Formats: sequence, structure tokens, C-alpha cells
Amino acid sequence: MTTNRLEPCIKLPLENEILEDIVDKAKDWALMHGAGMRSKVNFSKDSLQFAPFILLPSTFPREEFNKATEIQIILNELIHKVAHDYGFLSSSLKSTVEVDEFTSRLFKIYETVHNEGTAQQMLSLGLFRSDYLAHSAANNNIKQVEINTIASSFGGICTHIPSLHRYVLQELGHGDKIKNVPVNTALEGLCGGMLEAWKIYGDPNAVILFVIENITYNICDQRFHEFEIRRQNRMVVVIRRTLTQIADTAKLGKNKELSIDGLSVAVVYFRSGYEPAQYPSSKEWAARLMIERSLAIKCPSIHYHLAGTKKVQQTLATPGVLEKFLTDPAKVDAVKEIFTGLYSLDLDEDGNRAAEMAIMKPECYVLKPQREGGGNNVYGEKVREVLQSMTDSQERTAWILMERIIPPVQKGYMIRPGGPEVPQLVDLVSELGIFGVIIGNASTVIANRQVGHMLRTKLSSADEGGVAAGSGALDSPYLI
Ligand code: ADP
Ligand code: MG
Ligand code: MG
Repeated sequence: MTTNRLEPCIKLPLENEILEDIVDKAKDWALMHGAGMRSKVNFSKDSLQFAPFILLPSTFPREEFNKATEIQIILNELIHKVAHDYGFLSSSLKSTVEVDEFTSRLFKIYETVHNEGTAQQMLSLGLFRSDYLAHSAANNNIKQVEINTIASSFGGICTHIPSLHRYVLQELGHGDKIKNVPVNTALEGLCGGMLEAWKIYGDPNAVILFVIENITYNICDQRFHEFEIRRQNRMVVVIRRTLTQIADTAKLGKNKELSIDGLSVAVVYFRSGYEPAQYPSSKEWAARLMIERSLAIKCPSIHYHLAGTKKVQQTLATPGVLEKFLTDPAKVDAVKEIFTGLYSLDLDEDGNRAAEMAIMKPECYVLKPQREGGGNNVYGEKVREVLQSMTDSQERTAWILMERIIPPVQKGYMIRPGGPEVPQLVDLVSELGIFGVIIGNASTVIANRQVGHMLRTKLSSADEGGVAAGSGALDSPYLI
């Protein structure tokens, strides 16, 4: 395996005294600008901790950054078309639905609304985030890790990280480097998408409903969205409810208008509902179905949600499939370039071949179930163990196999709550996310835009780097 190194934006290490001082200032900057989260250990609604962050912006190849931003509208279009192809979604997810209960329940909701005949003409709002790692073995070209179509987070907080990094560079006497830290307009763009959907819905008294978890740790990110919506249009009210509360109090009117506590709902924005634990009983599933049946514009609709599954990602990488959705060969080539090896693990010849390949070289692959939110994938030696335990078991079809991407490493400082006052210089790797907004139905696309980015960085030795999950840190790109 080849790994390579990227040079940090300034010469490191910093002297201890300078480091201690700048870390102190950067932590306060982060707290005072809302780059925060609620603590999982000492949870209180009355206080915030700063979110883990990287002291200096991490170097990222400019050309690859531009490539990722440029391809976003093609990916938006691709997911949109996939989501409106009932035959394709059903056949791609068929084997998974047979064994994976969560995907199966989502799929049942999809079938129900599809059979009722409304799903196709209803508008969907997509706030997507496509994630990439630069691949050392491919000259640091970006490869897509996945695309998130539900609860794509950190657009709110990440919009502020370039300012944090510009402040740090300035304080360290490197103001000349600020120009290489691109502006991020993710928050404005994502909220602009929600407001555009709200306007299309056409009821000036209707609200935007955020579907939230029972406990919100990532509160700053969510509130930034709410405050930005209010800043852009103070007429629009945002309400927050859990799926359980929705089950208890929401109703459908005679024309299928969704209302809750006497308020009509124009747009439903899911920040929950992407993992099994968020549906503790059949009540929450009934709430999801009610929302899906309603006239409200869903972000995402059930078909957008399903189009973002890892199984669909894998099916799209099968030869000849992209061509069904993208007619322009240049677009097909551009998307193929960012795909890396993705393999079905169905119980057939192809699946057996893929499993054998990974059993021989487990360190070269990642094994993925149909889950979101981090912490669900299998890496290294365990890939072999888990695959061997599933030989001949139908359960294997709920997983996909992906080639492991080895990103370039660079030195940097990770700052975490409760960490040392003088952090160690460590080896880091970064994952870039690009946000896209799309609004449309089966026959039209009303809006399709790329709106901003996020960078998340983890220790190079860690398998995963989710910030909410605990091992990653917020970052912003330094383009070279
Ligand atoms: P989730 O939906 O849970 O975020 P991901 O597919 O994004 O699932 O995987 C979680 C994390 O695992 C990624 O953020 C990345 O750090 C790591 N990862 C996933 N796929 C790969 C891969 N093919 N190569 C290297 N790392 C990967
Ligand atoms: Mg995901
Ligand atoms: Mg991910």
C-alpha cells in the first residue's frame, strides 16, 4: 500500500509557548462563534463544549477540491433520477430488503406511497453531502466514500471554520496564507434550499418542521440552520419535534396537509430517522409513513432516502448502470472517475468472488452494512472474520464491500475538549464533504446547486472519523 504525505500550510511544530497561547485563543474563538456541541459525558442543555477541531487548515489539493465541487450537480441529478426509478430502486434493494429489517421497513413505506400514486408527482427537497478521500494510490485523486441524502450534518458549524482558521493564521503571522482558505457558504445555501421549498409549498402561514432526536448533541449545527432560516426570511417559523411527538400529535387534513399542534407544515427536514434506534416502536414508523403520505415537501422523501443507501451506491458502480441515468458520456466519465471498487456480496458467483478477494486481503477493503451515522463498518482483520462467519448466510446480502481508500497523511494538531493544553503533533487524514441542494419531482428539476463544503479530519491510525461519533475533528481545506 502506498501512502504519501502532504506538507502542512505552515512550518510545524510550533514552539510550545506559541502553541499554548494560540490553542487557548482558538478554543475561545470556537466557543464564542458557536463551533460547539453538547457534551455526551456531562450533558446539560445549559452549556456547550467546543467541537473538536484542527488548529490549522489541512492541506488539500486545489484541483481535486474544484473537481468535487463541480461534480456535485451531476451527483444531485443522478440521485434524483435514481430516486424516481421505481424499478431500479426495487431491484437494487431486493436482496437487502429480504434480510435487513430497517431497510425493509423504509422500503415498505416507499411501496405504500408509490402504490397510492402520489410519490412521483410530489416534490422532494434534497440537501445532500457527497464525501471524499484523496486516494494515495491514485495520485491523490478524490474517491467518493458515500453520499448522504438524510440528515447531512455540519453545514452549519463548518461554515464558520474557515474564519477560525483565518484568525489562527493571522495571529501566527501568516496573514498572507488566508487567501488559500476558501469561503464556505454551506449554511446559507442549505437554508436557501429549505426556504425555496417553503415558498413553492405556497402557504405563508405554514412552518418548517425539524425532525429531531430525543437528545440533540449537535445542537449548534441544527440551531444555525434554524437561525439562518429566520435571518433570510423572518416570516418562516421553525418547529422542532421528535418522531414520537409527531406520532402523538400530528394529523393529516382532508387534502393530506400535515399539521401539528394547529400549525400547517410546508417542509419536513429530517435530522433523525436514519437509524433503527430512532424508531423505538411502531408509532415512530407510523409517523414516518404519515409524513411521507402528506403534502409537505420532505427533506428527504423516502425515495431520496433509499437512493442514498450504500447498496444503491454499489449498484450504481456496476458497469453500464450510470449510462441509464446520465445521457451525457462526459458526465458518466466524470462520475466513474470518482468511484472506487464497490462489490455486491449477494449469494451468487460475483458475491462469492468478492468475499474471497476480501478474505485474502482484508486490509484492502471495508465491509459496510446499510447504516448511517458512523461506527457501523468493519475494517482490517475483522473483514475476514465477519465474511467467513457469513459464508452461505443470506445475511451477507445486507452488506457491501468497498475498496479501502488510503488518504495522504499530514502533520497537525487536534484540539479536543479535555485534551492537553499543549497538544501533540500527530499524523492526520482528511475527508472532504460537498453539499448539494436539489428540488424536483419525477418530471422536473426546479433547483440544482452546489452550495458549500466541510472538511473532517481524524488521526491517520483511526478507521473512522465521525465528529458526532467522537473520533474526528472539524477542519477546513487549505488549497495548494
Ligand atoms: P456512514 O454513513 O456511517 O458515515 P461511511 O461510508 O461514510 O458511513 O463510512 C464511515 C467512515 O469510514 C468514513 O467517514 C471514512 O472515514 C471511513 N470509510 C468508509 N469507507 C471507506 C473506504 N472505502 N476507505 C477508507 N475509509 C473508509
Ligand atoms: Mg452516511
Ligand atoms: Mg459517512
